[in-house]
Amino acid sequence: MNVLDASTLHLMALCNMLPRMRKLAVVVSLGVLVVVAMSGCGSDDDGSPGSADGGGKVTIATTVAPITSIVANIVGDRATVTGIVPEGTNSHTFEPQPSVAELLSVVDVVYLNGLVLEEPTKELAEDNLKDGADIVELGTIAIPESEYIYDFSFPKDGGKPNPHLWTDPTLALRYAEIVKDDMSERDPDNASYYAANYESFAVVIGEMDAAMRESFATIPKRELLTYHDAYAYFAKTYDWTVIGAIQVGDFEDPTPGEVAALIEQVRSEDIPAIFGSEVFPSPVLEQIGEEAGVKYVDVLRDDDLPGAPGEADHSWMGLMMFDYITMTEALGGDATALRAVEVRNVVPDVASYPQ
Ligand SMILES: [Zn+2]
Repeated sequence: MNVLDASTLHLMALCNMLPRMRKLAVVVSLGVLVVVAMSGCGSDDDGSPGSADGGGKVTIATTVAPITSIVANIVGDRATVTGIVPEGTNSHTFEPQPSVAELLSVVDVVYLNGLVLEEPTKELAEDNLKDGADIVELGTIAIPESEYIYDFSFPKDGGKPNPHLWTDPTLALRYAEIVKDDMSERDPDNASYYAANYESFAVVIGEMDAAMRESFATIPKRELLTYHDAYAYFAKTYDWTVIGAIQVGDFEDPTPGEVAALIEQVRSEDIPAIFGSEVFPSPVLEQIGEEAGVKYVDVLRDDDLPGAPGEADHSWMGLMMFDYITMTEALGGDATALRAVEVRNVVPDVASYPQ
C-alpha cells in the first residue's frame, strides 16, 4: 500500500455513496412510472395488438441510457419505454432495488445489452416477467460469439466479454435493427413506423460514420489509453489501437508495478493525451498523465448521456459525438467534420431516464 492507494480508496468510497443515493431517487420515480404505465393500459384499451394484456401500447423496460435512447429512436411515442440503470451509475456493478421488480412484472419486453453486463437485472426480470413477456439481449445477438472481444478489463478467463458494442455506431445500428424487427412482430400495426424510424436512424449513423472517418484521418496517432475499457469494438471498426485500459476486471486499480509500466508505455508511444471516464474518477490515471507528461482528459463517458432528458444532446448520438470530438481534438486532430453533424433524435424521445 502506498499513499496513492489510500487516496484512491477514499475516493472510491465517496463514489460508491453517490450511486446509492441516486438509486433511492430512482426507486421513487420507477414507482410513479409503473403507476402511469398501468393506468395508461387501463384507460387506453382499444383491443389493438401490442401488450399481452390487450391494452394499448407495448411496454418496454431498458437498462443503460444509451440503449434506452436507441430504443426510443425506433419506437418514438408508440410504445412506453422506461430505463432502469440510473445515469452516472457504474452499470457493470449495478444491482436493481427489489422494487424494480414491479416494473419488470408489467412490461412486455426487456431490452438488455447482454454480454453479461446486467446479470442482476436480468435475473430480477427472469423472476418477475409476466407470461408472454420476453428478454431480448441486443448485444449478445448483434454479433456472433466468435466476434466477442476479450481484452484488458474483460479477460477471457473472467468469462465476461467486453460488453460495449454500442460505442461503435455500426453496432449501435444493429441494436436499432434488432429492436425494429422485434417491435414489428410485437406490434405489427406500427411496423411501418418503426421501419421508417430505423431508416432515419441509419441515415444519422451514416453521417456520423463519414464524419468520424474524416476527422479521425487528421489524428497523427489513433491510440487510446483509457480508464474504462469501453472502446474495443469502436477501435476495431475505426482502426484505432487501444494501448491499455487502467481499470482491471474487478473494478479496482492496477498495482504500482503496472502503473509504472503504463507510464513508460505512454512516454514511448508519444501520444499527447490519455482519457479518464466521467463516471470513474481516477487518481491513478491522473498520476500516469502527470508523470508521463501528457494531458489527462477525464470526461469520456460510455453510458451517462450529456445534457438533460428532453435535450437533443441527451441521446446515444449526443453521447458518442461528445466522445469522438473529445478524442479527436485531444489527440491533435481536426474535428470540424464531426462538429458539422447535427446531434438529433429521429423522433421526439419520450422515454423515461432515471437520474
Ligand atoms: Zn462501461
